[in-house]
Amino acid sequence: MSFEGKYNTKSPAVKRLMREAHELAEATEEYHACPLEDNLFEWHFTVRGPPSSEFDGGIYHGRIILPPEYPMKPPNIVLLTPNGRFEIHKKICLSISGHHPETWQPSWSIRTALLALIAFMPTPGNDTIGSLNYSVEERQKLAKKSQKWECEICGKIINLLREDKFFNSKETDKPILNSPNAFNASNVSRSVNMVPRSSTSHTFNENSIQRLVNSQLLDNYTQENTLNQQENSLSLNNISGTLLIIFLLSVISLLILRRLFFL
Ligand SMILES: [Zn+2]
Repeated sequence: MSFEGKYNTKSPAVKRLMREAHELAEATEEYHACPLEDNLFEWHFTVRGPPSSEFDGGIYHGRIILPPEYPMKPPNIVLLTPNGRFEIHKKICLSISGHHPETWQPSWSIRTALLALIAFMPTPGNDTIGSLNYSVEERQKLAKKSQKWECEICGKIINLLREDKFFNSKETDKPILNSPNAFNASNVSRSVNMVPRSSTSHTFNENSIQRLVNSQLLDNYTQENTLNQQENSLSLNNISGTLLIIFLLSVISLLILRRLFFL
């Protein structure tokens, strides 16, 4: 898809969104998102329900609406597939989403929002905006039904994620994502701490989101920094190598000179 010519590529939001679209181009087993062909500020996403939860086996589709100020302001997330946890066609309330702009950080990304959404699914709604308190059985039924769900624009959503090796297996003791690089939804949900029911509209506190992002979702931007640091230390190694060679050459020439003049 090409947005060049249509958008001002000098705008930070456009630059950032084009970069994120590039990074998210390939579907993973857990999530996928891409901008609509004619609108860089509206994306459609697909996420897999977290394993070992009533959403296991479910596939859920929705919209991400990005403000012109993105990433300074957070994205809004709207679910389209009935799931029993979030109302559909309604902006949902996550600490990370548009309902809580105060907790959003510009270094977070669409990927962070999707991982947070997966992690939030098995947690109680606590009557926050856009949340539903369906029973486990109802959610399981909806999870099964969701596999046949189709988006008017994207088609059958089951085809939008990479095929999953573990979620569909019927073994009793199924492994949860062995690969250390793979995102482990159940670990993320474990790392999200709940705020007691007495709290008002915030289901999660800022610290838990921060921890979630820090511990599980090593953001691309941090990875980039690490790469830069590695590059720096590489060039330091080069410098010390060169110095060693110069030192050795001087010692050798000193020895040769001594032989020539003092013998
Ligand atoms: Zn769609």
